[in-house]
Amino acid sequence: PAATGFVNAPNRDFSQTAERERLAQAIEDVRAKLGQERPPIVGGRAIAPREWLESRNPADPAQVLGRWGVATIADADQAVAAAQKAWPQWRRTPVAERAGMLDRAADLMEARRSELTALIILEAGKPWPEADADVSEAVDFCRFYAAEMRRIDAPVLTQRVAGERNTTTWTARGVGVAIAPWNFPLAILTGLTVAPLVGGNAVIMKPAEQTTLIAGVCYDILREAGVPAEVLHFLPGRGEEIGAHLVAHPQISFVAFTGSRAVGTAIWEAAGRTLPGQTQLKKVVCEMGGKNALIIDDDADLDEAIPGALYSAFGFSGQKCSALSRLIVLDGIYDTFVERFVAACGSLQIGDPTDPGTLVGPVIDEEAQRKIRGCIDTGRGEARLAYQGTAPAHGWFIGPTVFTEVRPDHRIAQDEVFGPVVAILRARDLDEAIAWANGTDYALTAGLFSRRPSALRRAAAELEAGNIYLNRAITGAIVERQPFGGYRMSGGGTKAGGRGYLENFLVPRLVSENV
Ligand code: GLU
Repeated sequence: PAATGFVNAPNRDFSQTAERERLAQAIEDVRAKLGQERPPIVGGRAIAPREWLESRNPADPAQVLGRWGVATIADADQAVAAAQKAWPQWRRTPVAERAGMLDRAADLMEARRSELTALIILEAGKPWPEADADVSEAVDFCRFYAAEMRRIDAPVLTQRVAGERNTTTWTARGVGVAIAPWNFPLAILTGLTVAPLVGGNAVIMKPAEQTTLIAGVCYDILREAGVPAEVLHFLPGRGEEIGAHLVAHPQISFVAFTGSRAVGTAIWEAAGRTLPGQTQLKKVVCEMGGKNALIIDDDADLDEAIPGALYSAFGFSGQKCSALSRLIVLDGIYDTFVERFVAACGSLQIGDPTDPGTLVGPVIDEEAQRKIRGCIDTGRGEARLAYQGTAPAHGWFIGPTVFTEVRPDHRIAQDEVFGPVVAILRARDLDEAIAWANGTDYALTAGLFSRRPSALRRAAAELEAGNIYLNRAITGAIVERQPFGGYRMSGGGTKAGGRGYLENFLVPRLVSENV
């Protein structure tokens, strides 16, 4: 591949005592400074909110981490008006300067890595290595999109022809909104914000309600890196209020969204309605859920497949749109696999994510816990509960849960759970396994463990998924290396962290000059 000069940020190595001590200290420091307030910010000025909400630690909901101000519709309108005024000037700012700001933001994130990681652990309930990887991914998004913007900035000659010079270039769309999820509270918010920004657009950040404090730090860092106050606004608020209002706003030209299918499809629809005063068609980049399958062939190396499956299903309590939720195991290895998989579940450390050994922390909030419990109840009615881990009673925990004797038409095999729950299906052969893997509304991640090159080739060709993983875990896409995103009901718009992603937020123009 052509070199972009981009290099991924390395994760911290927590097997090193010094690294462990540094993060443990950062967790203490964040705890010592609890109670910060995050008001909405429009044009660089904090707005005195009419209402404050609390951000709580999902592992210990009695602990209030801080308060955030709820932005109103009037605040949103003010942000759009300010952004509308400012973006033409931002669009004229040289790419070198805009990209330089993203590189600076990446450096600032690296400089504050321990603090950011600690805040993610406390506010999102994310285990250490994954919270650390969240910061690495945010750094990567900044540096990669900066490199990409520099690469695509030069005019491209379409055809060599005598007497005429034909070139294409890209230009910004205008003012948009980034609506971010809580599960990658720094990485995805950063990606959804900086990709349009570096292209010369103005962005209104609408962070997830559950992870507003970490989002506030992301805003601070981008401002400190040089992004002007008028082209970046921070609007924490209720999705159904300001989120919906901004999506429908006639002066919003794009929506960058990652979140649930219900919200994503509503955004897709609302953005398709053209309103009076609207001067352009809205672009929606929308990343939604998955019902991701991993096939275990009857010759699979179980020493690889079991840890790969365990991590994919239960890492961060399955709260990734990429998480494994259907294990499709070939008949010839089914009994052995299930016995070993269930036994391995017993090794998962469940508990407070401030403990470095925790793999399964809490789920994000009470509503999530209730919804996941509902899915487990449904599963109990249709299949066999083969394993359920014991979870702490205090906090929003759910023990890792495994169902066997699941049929492809069961609800537990069709509906996204977004929690630590996996359904195991027994397939006759690879044909049936692939058909079942493809038999949901989603197409996000999928995988196969097999030693047969022909089976691996078939999986690569036939699995319906945006990201197909062979003989490895099916989560944890790395920026540039594994551009991330699916199709069908998993999303619309091209791959985050991949070439072409910036084009979502740009319009192409052709200049034809008689020379
Ligand atoms: N990019 C993440 C991964 O590959 C998932 C992102 C998400 O859950 O939205 O695991």
